[in-house]
Amino acid sequence: MSKPNCGKRSRTQPFKQIGADMTAKIIDGKRFAEELRGRIAGHVERLKAEHGITPGLAVVIVGHDPASQVYVSSKARQTAEVGMNSYKYELPEDVSELDLLELIRRLNDDKAVHGILVQMPVPRHIDPNKVIEAIDPAKDVDCFTPANVGKVQIGLAGPVSCTPLGCLMLLRDELGSLEGKHAVIIGRSNLVGKPMMQLLLRDNCTVTVAHSRTRDLAAVVRQADIVVAAVGRPQMIKGDWIKPGAVVIDVGINRIDAPERGEGKTRLVGDVDTAAASEVAAAITPVPGGVGPMTIACLLANTITTASLINGLTPPSDLTA
Ligand code: NAP
Repeated sequence: MSKPNCGKRSRTQPFKQIGADMTAKIIDGKRFAEELRGRIAGHVERLKAEHGITPGLAVVIVGHDPASQVYVSSKARQTAEVGMNSYKYELPEDVSELDLLELIRRLNDDKAVHGILVQMPVPRHIDPNKVIEAIDPAKDVDCFTPANVGKVQIGLAGPVSCTPLGCLMLLRDELGSLEGKHAVIIGRSNLVGKPMMQLLLRDNCTVTVAHSRTRDLAAVVRQADIVVAAVGRPQMIKGDWIKPGAVVIDVGINRIDAPERGEGKTRLVGDVDTAAASEVAAAITPVPGGVGPMTIACLLANTITTASLINGLTPPSDLTA
């Protein structure tokens, strides 16, 4: 599969000029994720052929939340498609915290398992922090454990938070070097905003992290060469907040009413007003089809990283930050 850079502008061409009638390139995350999974499948083949290792990913889901079930099934299917072993554990909604922790301990000890993911959120009677801390950092493919968060911060090899890793890959593909760019991240969650900040700093961006207490957010965003929106508020980032020529990564996934599609219908939108921003930005990720598909692909990439490290091998450099 060829490496996607499928828009109108190649890496070497300059951004469009300010004031020009612009239509942003749509960054095709779905296609990039397909290409990434192709590369991952190649690494799985190599680990099997050269080292007799079949990477294995265990996914644990508690309860029957339909959205989580869909997400977990998709992870299991894509894991198998790249040639890895996929292990799925479905626990009842009322499973005790102790039983869940016991399962995690068993998976920690299981040599066939190189990655463990517990689908969040867990039911209220279970402490998510205890769950995260129970996972062996060597198998923490979500990069939630304090040990792995610290490793990302100081630049040591290990798994990297999946969604920020996906955003980073898209940005590097779009821009080449990120050095010296001013990146504004809107959102400071442990899941997206903070690890994104670390990764962009490592790539020599100047990084501003905005949040709900930021004053004059529009003026802050207008300074950005790179905008990463991870807010969880539908279409909050307006077109006139975007600096002409900026690259916009829209992490948000929000479901809104879509009466134009029929009564009771809904549709997904991001945190950015895509239509308006597209008239100003050089490139933008769509929702759906932008960052979303990259997240699961990066989970598989992290499983290759952990499987390699657990077996004393150097992880492939094209699957990490
Ligand atoms: P989160 O934990 O709710 O964090 C939201 C962040 O946005 C917080 O830091 C919050 O600031 C900030 N914020 C909220 N309202 C704001 C406002 N009016 N102005 C400026 N900042 C504001 O959300 P998250 O987990 O990071 O997720 C963010 C979005 O990304 C959601 O839509 C989520 O569904 C989506 N998501 C997508 C993927 C994917 O695979 N594509 C993965 C993960 C998340 P404070 O800290 O001050 O409260």
